[in-house]
Amino acid sequence: MRILLQFPEGLKQEAMKHAKELEKQGNEVFISASPTFGACDLALDEMRNIGADKLIHFGHAEFHHVKENVEYVPYFVDAPTTLLPESLEVLKDHNTISIVTTIQHIHQLDSVKRFYEEHGKRVMIGKPYGFAKNNGQILGCDIGSAASVDKDVDAHVYFGGGMFHPLGALLNTTKPFFVIEPFENKIERIDKYREIYRKRSKGKIMRALKAKGIGILVSTKNGQHNMNLANIIKKKAEEAGLSAEILVANTFDFMSLSNMLEFDAFVNTACPRVSIDDIERTRAPLLSANELMEVLRMKKELIALQK
Ligand code: SF4
Repeated sequence: MRILLQFPEGLKQEAMKHAKELEKQGNEVFISASPTFGACDLALDEMRNIGADKLIHFGHAEFHHVKENVEYVPYFVDAPTTLLPESLEVLKDHNTISIVTTIQHIHQLDSVKRFYEEHGKRVMIGKPYGFAKNNGQILGCDIGSAASVDKDVDAHVYFGGGMFHPLGALLNTTKPFFVIEPFENKIERIDKYREIYRKRSKGKIMRALKAKGIGILVSTKNGQHNMNLANIIKKKAEEAGLSAEILVANTFDFMSLSNMLEFDAFVNTACPRVSIDDIERTRAPLLSANELMEVLRMKKELIALQK
């Protein structure tokens, strides 16, 4: 069988080991050297171009169904749980908590839940919206496991590595939010970022009020492609008297976007985190669809005031 292997950056160092194992079984094996950001970003074009019978995507669970032959090999990591006793002190005023984590640590969720229950907490595990596949699992774009229980809990606890995942959940919830980061050996309350990101969003909206040309980003990645939304945005922008065009790429290069001087603002329809995490990488404001709607609403109000 002709097989293409795809690894996220953190696992690329193991690519040759897996390739050799599959070759020993008589397969013809290729390794994708492109960056990948999740199972929303399968190397389907490369698979087609080399005529591969199968793509094996390591490190992530299925994001959504594709018709191609794709096998997902999630990667589980045992995170140290030594910080859990210490976290009881910072959580002492919060009786009902939710716990969320990533696919890498989802196998530890039950034991973390049990720990808190044994120490008198009521623990709720929320349901994802659909892109994440396990209760309690979050993705940068699926924070349902936290948001679905936000009204019922006193606080949220993220157990796992990095800030990328909890940040998305933080911005879509309202309760105190604690990060237990076992690899950096730290416990942090991160609520302050809600206000920081709200101000950043407001700043982008104010800058975009002067925009005349709008570039709408559409990614060709399997799980990020949203041409319908782009068409709706283009129509709304044009109805408001702006010039709008749809810009297509697999991975957007921010230098190339910055070279497109006719656009004074960009609107993201791809990974929702692009318009949160990458806003300092473009010359012009990089808005979400909702932020553009706010720009159009404010523009309308300003025009009405001037009449
Ligand atoms: S957050 Fe972005 S990169 Fe991650 S799975 Fe969702 S769409 Fe893909």
